[in-house]
Amino acid sequence: MQLSANLQDAFNDQINAELASAYLYLSMAAYFEDADLTGFAHWMRMQNTEETAHAMRFFDYVHDRGGRATLQAIAQPPADFRSPLDVMERTLAHEREVTALINRMYQLAMEESDYAAQVMLHELINEQVEEEKTAEEIVEHLRIIEGDGAGLLQMDARLGARTAAE
Ligand code: MG
Repeated sequence: MQLSANLQDAFNDQINAELASAYLYLSMAAYFEDADLTGFAHWMRMQNTEETAHAMRFFDYVHDRGGRATLQAIAQPPADFRSPLDVMERTLAHEREVTALINRMYQLAMEESDYAAQVMLHELINEQVEEEKTAEEIVEHLRIIEGDGAGLLQMDARLGARTAAE
């Protein structure tokens, strides 16, 4: 069954949203590189890779369903951040926005009785739970260690050990 025009538009918007996420995280990686927090920078590079992979999943899915992926302009991401906590709070807020977008797509797939699209979105919905959980945890830990340089470096080492863009 071919994707409806409405769903194709929504999936194309999501390709853009995922690429915008990738671009945002790359900008955050640059902030951390500049601050010599290489573990945080590594974590953000992995986020960048992961978001690009998400975009490609939607890209491939549109074509699997007989549609056509069309690419839109990606807005310039913010470059200035106040602190690691500021970056991670923005990351969490951003992931919550992405969750809302995916939920809206799921709503549309339900309204159109597109069961295949619903199943495809299940995995992404589950991943958003993980994304938000991970970002929330980092925000909470940064709040706990606020002003503690040794704690920040310990976190940097931990985030630097992330092995997969999961
Ligand atoms: Mg994503």
